[in-house]
This record gives sequence, C-alpha cells and structure tokens, in this order.
Amino acid sequence: MNNKEYDFKGTPLRGSDIKGKKVLTTSWKPNLQYSWDDGVAIGRYLKELKNGKIIARKCNKCERIMIPPRMFCELCFRATDEWVYVEDTGSINTFSISYVHWDAKRIKEGEKPFIPAVIEIDGASEGMGILHVLGEVDPEVVKSGMRVKAVWKSPEERIGAITDIKYFKPI
Ligand SMILES: [Zn+2]
Repeated sequence: MNNKEYDFKGTPLRGSDIKGKKVLTTSWKPNLQYSWDDGVAIGRYLKELKNGKIIARKCNKCERIMIPPRMFCELCFRATDEWVYVEDTGSINTFSISYVHWDAKRIKEGEKPFIPAVIEIDGASEGMGILHVLGEVDPEVVKSGMRVKAVWKSPEERIGAITDIKYFKPI
C-alpha cells in the first residue's frame, strides 16, 4: 500500500474565508425545518394511536397479522390485504435495563433505570411486536413472558405518535 496516497493535506482556512462566510462558524444558528411522509401503513397506525387503538395489517396468504403494519408481505412477496385491530395488551418478548437516557446521558443518582422492551401484541401473530418501555414495575421482577397492558395518554394529549402510549405496565 502506498501511504502517500492517504496523506491528505487538505486546504488550510484563511481569515478571509471566515470573514467572507465561505465556511460555517459557531455563529451559525441553524433553522432547519423538514417534513416527511409516514406512508400508508405507518400513517394509519399513528392515526389509530391518536384514537387510542392499535391497528395491524393482515396478509391473507400466510395469514400473518403484522404489527407495526406494513403494506407488503416480505414472506409472500405480495401486497397485504386488510386492516385488523389488535389489543393494547401483550407479553414481554425481550427487555433491557438501561442506565442511560435515549441520548446516551447517564441517569441521575437515585433515578430509576428505563426498561425498554419488545412487546408481543395480543391479536397479532406470534413474534410480532413493538419496541416500547415498561412502567410501574421494578427492574428486579421483570421477566420475559410477563403480561402487560398499554397506559395511554389522555385523548387530549395524544398527537398520533408512538408516545401516545406512555408505557406498558404489568397486569
Ligand atoms: Zn404473507
């Protein structure tokens, strides 16, 4: 290997580049606005969450009821067929006890750890589940297979997001 090939020198910045605003500096205040399309399946899923319901999608060939819903069955290689409401209860498939926040900051001394978990939703096919968090439960007693139920925000608080469910708690 020729190391010289990787010996990039780059271009040094000059004062005039910064004064001339040819480069980004710390004085730049970003105002980035963006939007995206949820798509048909996730769009309907989020809309139903706002109504306090969980909806899945069924493939009539393999008869799987899939959650989160999808418009295409990756096993049958064909479009899925119908919408199916499922329960807001389920079983813990797997979980983790987390001592860091979602942004990787360590939790404060004495703060309870988060318990992210994959919940297999009742009414969906076996193994079909969603990632959420557990609440009202001590980490020491959580186990796979434990039965749980969604704790919803009030209808006024819901915005059509997965966080319309605050957490799942044991039943
Ligand atoms: Zn299928």
